[in-house]
Amino acid sequence: MGNVARRDFLKAAAAAAVAPLVVPGAAAKPGARADIRIGDASYTPVPDYPIQPNLYSEVTLTDTFWKPKVAANAEVTIPFEVQKLSEIERGVNGNVLEAVILSLKTHPDPKLQAMLDARVQQAKQAEARGNSGFEVAATYYHTTGKRDLLDKAIVTADALYKNFVETNPPFSGGERDAMNCVQLYRATHDKKHLDLAKHYLDIRGLESSVNRSRHNQSYKPVLEQTEAVGHAVNCVTLMVSLADVGVLTGIKDYFNASQRMWQDIIEKKLYVTGGVGTTGNEGFGEAYSLPNINAYSETCAVLMFITLNHRLFMATGDAKYIDVMERGMYNNAIDGVSASGDRFFYVNRLASAGDGRDTRWARASLECCPPNLVRFLASMPGYVYAQDKKDAIYVNLYVSSRTSFKVGAKDLALSVDSEMPWGGVSTITVSTKDDVSGTIKLRIPGWARNKPVPSTLYSYADRLDHQATMWVNGKSVSAAPDKMGYVSLDRLWKNGDVIRVEFPFEVRRVVADQRVAETRRRVAVERGPIVYCLESHDMQGGRALSALLDARVDLKPVVDPAFYGGATVIHTSATSITNPSSAAQSVKLIPYYLWANRGAGEMTVWLSTEGYRLGDTGPAGGFIFYENPNGANDGWRYLEAAPFDQSAGARWRSPLCRSQPQWRARVVPAFARRARADVQEPQGRGHPGLS
Ligand SMILES: [Zn+2]
Repeated sequence: MGNVARRDFLKAAAAAAVAPLVVPGAAAKPGARADIRIGDASYTPVPDYPIQPNLYSEVTLTDTFWKPKVAANAEVTIPFEVQKLSEIERGVNGNVLEAVILSLKTHPDPKLQAMLDARVQQAKQAEARGNSGFEVAATYYHTTGKRDLLDKAIVTADALYKNFVETNPPFSGGERDAMNCVQLYRATHDKKHLDLAKHYLDIRGLESSVNRSRHNQSYKPVLEQTEAVGHAVNCVTLMVSLADVGVLTGIKDYFNASQRMWQDIIEKKLYVTGGVGTTGNEGFGEAYSLPNINAYSETCAVLMFITLNHRLFMATGDAKYIDVMERGMYNNAIDGVSASGDRFFYVNRLASAGDGRDTRWARASLECCPPNLVRFLASMPGYVYAQDKKDAIYVNLYVSSRTSFKVGAKDLALSVDSEMPWGGVSTITVSTKDDVSGTIKLRIPGWARNKPVPSTLYSYADRLDHQATMWVNGKSVSAAPDKMGYVSLDRLWKNGDVIRVEFPFEVRRVVADQRVAETRRRVAVERGPIVYCLESHDMQGGRALSALLDARVDLKPVVDPAFYGGATVIHTSATSITNPSSAAQSVKLIPYYLWANRGAGEMTVWLSTEGYRLGDTGPAGGFIFYENPNGANDGWRYLEAAPFDQSAGARWRSPLCRSQPQWRARVVPAFARRARADVQEPQGRGHPGLS
């Protein structure tokens, strides 16, 4: 038994608590479906998705938003993480190593290069760890053309395959197995590697699977799953694997399963910031449960969700996936790293009590999110453009940049000059030696056509009637998108042709489906792809959670060139929910991704537009159970049964949470039965609740 087989045995043995001990070499496992054997399915593999992105290294950013972020990633964040990882025994590996490989191609760095070369030599000598090195090996091969790690991965994959043929071990609980094997397949195009990926999916959710649960998405076979459940990162990883295996094998059932689960997220489980994962166990919660102050919305989860949406686009050519991807990129994803580039969020909450719990931390290397984020930022330019098999060009994100395409046998280059994400005007200039007949598809973002997300989970409270406009060489053309969300310009392109596109770029108020209790009577503010928030630093008194925004108040975009490299902020005014008749004060909304750069303070994405009703979910995520009729005089208006004690510093907590931990258990059924305010006024009155 080689190293690989022994490792698999160890994984299988962990299942002994729930299944009879599995002995390698035995035939079908107790409870396993004996008909599932690796390599049995008949299919004709395809090399990859029908639509392919222009590689990150083929796109030169020239903008002032992403380019500095990608550069800071290469110059600050990656070296910071490499340094942190070098200080511990594990060394530079996994996603940080992959980020180094990717980043070196566009941002050469002799010191990092020397580190990478040494790590590759070490990795060649090291013991193979199942399929976990496949992705780095494939990336190293794709990026450098060197087979050092790939050849070793192929040997390991052969051993894994042989082990499946001989002993057919059950699902081990590993989340990335299928994805790792798909990535290897993309480098080798060896059907056995795709068989491995498919088999890792097929053995999940069987009676023989380890620790069967919704949390690890093995509660039923993958093709029967319809909901996004359990650990969010792992669930979305499964969805990416399902999409990959479905497209690459041509067996649609896998792809359809992924799309069903995506639909479940889009309709019921997506944060307005584009994030996913709502519960403290890092998982998906119930439908329409989207807590703000207790949001999870892990950076890793949105990054995998970005990958998923990009893949679903690559399979279908539907811009709705890019809408979701863009929302995640401009908000939840880049919120994961500080403006300084060396402080991080693992959890990306949509509200903060300002109690210090939401301070970005520097423990970069030991957690999953920062390594994932550096890999994303290194490859970010790869999300901007794509091309299909008929050579149609997709402009998906409007980011000032240059790139080139092969259209038939001819070369066609695009140079995009865009105001995004702070303005709606973009011009796209064509360069070509010969006239080229071809199609350029321009995405009309959902936010530019009154559709913030491709579902009814969120909608704009203020409908906008003017639409995108487009010109080619100064002549107006129709900017009405097709049902895939694109305007297709099909013509003979000549050198110097200019497309100008202008999107409506007003400040918009977003409301959520009324079934989302946490956002009732509140709005989020957006402009283009950017979601805004109110942070305590930008209002007198610092009580962002208590701000009350008049539904008709003017929201004025103001360019602030000094604010973290330049950003458009929004000037408006707000009163206090404690005392709505108090004088309105000026407040400033900032892009959500820039919060928590100025020290602790209250923050909220969702702003109240009216007072709470009893039974509403309050800012602490608990039930509002009492309204003080003398609120204006007493300085506090509501009592809220917070689900847990947020911290001693949270001024709006219910005092009962500390003195009577059982209080919530008593209050909640009372509300459920009576749904009215006849709950007795609790002891502790006089302690301010929400104020
Ligand atoms: Zn993470």
